[in-house]
Amino acid sequence: MALMRSMLLAASQSVWLRERAVKYPFVRRSVSRFMPGETLDAALAAAQKLQLKNIGSVFTHLGENVRDRGEARKVTEHYLEVLDRIHESKLPTEVSVKLTQLGLDLSPEFCSDNLEQIIRRESPAATVWVDMEASNYVDVTLDIYKNALKNHPNAGVCLQSYLRRTQKDLAEMLPLRPAIRLVNGAYNEPSDIAFPKKADVDENYFVIAQELLRAQSDGKCARAAFGTHDVSLIRRIADFAGQQGYQKSALEVQMLYGIQRAEQERLAREGYRSIVLVAYGSYWYPWFVRRLAERPANLWFMLRNVFAS
Ligand SMILES: Cc1cc2nc3c(=O)[nH]c(=O)nc-3n(C[C@H](O)[C@H](O)[C@H](O)COP(=O)(O)OP(=O)(O)OC[C@H]3O[C@@H](n4cnc5c(N)ncnc54)[C@H](O)[C@@H]3O)c2cc1C
Repeated sequence: MALMRSMLLAASQSVWLRERAVKYPFVRRSVSRFMPGETLDAALAAAQKLQLKNIGSVFTHLGENVRDRGEARKVTEHYLEVLDRIHESKLPTEVSVKLTQLGLDLSPEFCSDNLEQIIRRESPAATVWVDMEASNYVDVTLDIYKNALKNHPNAGVCLQSYLRRTQKDLAEMLPLRPAIRLVNGAYNEPSDIAFPKKADVDENYFVIAQELLRAQSDGKCARAAFGTHDVSLIRRIADFAGQQGYQKSALEVQMLYGIQRAEQERLAREGYRSIVLVAYGSYWYPWFVRRLAERPANLWFMLRNVFAS
């Protein structure tokens, strides 16, 4: 399993594979399970359907490691348009951005300016989320985030429970009253940086989740969101929240579009905050292969699509 995950994560970074894979109809059919379409309109239509079920949404325009200033500016402008469209439609939708798509590889200052523009366009009541990428970006991502947080309390950042450093990062950030989305972590990391065993990653997740819920209740964390599809982990966190006497609406779970739909709906029905991250755009290859790495059964699903009409 671990070998398969490593191979897929290596494949997610292959330009050679990306250029070929995106042309195969069976790959495109498989991708459609995880994203409603490549356009913003497709994402908006999906958000409307989710809203009917009392499920909120977060949009992310797929892309990473942009190495051209013009392109990073275009991505920034796109997000400004996205926010305008979201506000016009009055949807309960936020955005989540990758700093390497906003030009982080070119210059942290340039990237920071782009992020600033996006946060300024968002309403102060909604969060602008910053994704966490591979471990070599963690320091600079947290620096940019902390800087943004000084002027914008509605900025949020993702933390990854597979990283050994995350408990310390959280402790350092809590005095700033951050908004945190906690996830397992989706990249290929060496064992001195990330826990190699899934059981340790899950346990670390639960420890940090409890810390986040306590901090949220004490007003030290502006918002705690749990990005996971792990139903038993969600139940453990919900049980903890119940024992502490927290309201159901204080527990926010975020999942990816198309994964664990029944659980997304159950959470919303039962009064928890249920949010779906809707990814769209044409640069889906690395993102999609990371989804395959998370669950090898997705590979069989893709292979079945070879024979689908
Ligand atoms: C809202 C959101 C935002 C995220 N943002 C980031 C980020 O910024 N940085 C980052 O590194 N990672 C991010 N991730 C990905 C995350 O790190 C994990 O890789 C991913 O969520 C899988 O871990 P898990 O805890 O959901 O489930 P796991 O513990 O891996 O699996 C639990 C169960 O969930 C289901 N499941 C999990 N993944 C899949 C899948 N791909 N397809 C089908 N079923 C699946 C299966 O039933 C599986 O048995 C994000 C995830 C979410 C939900």
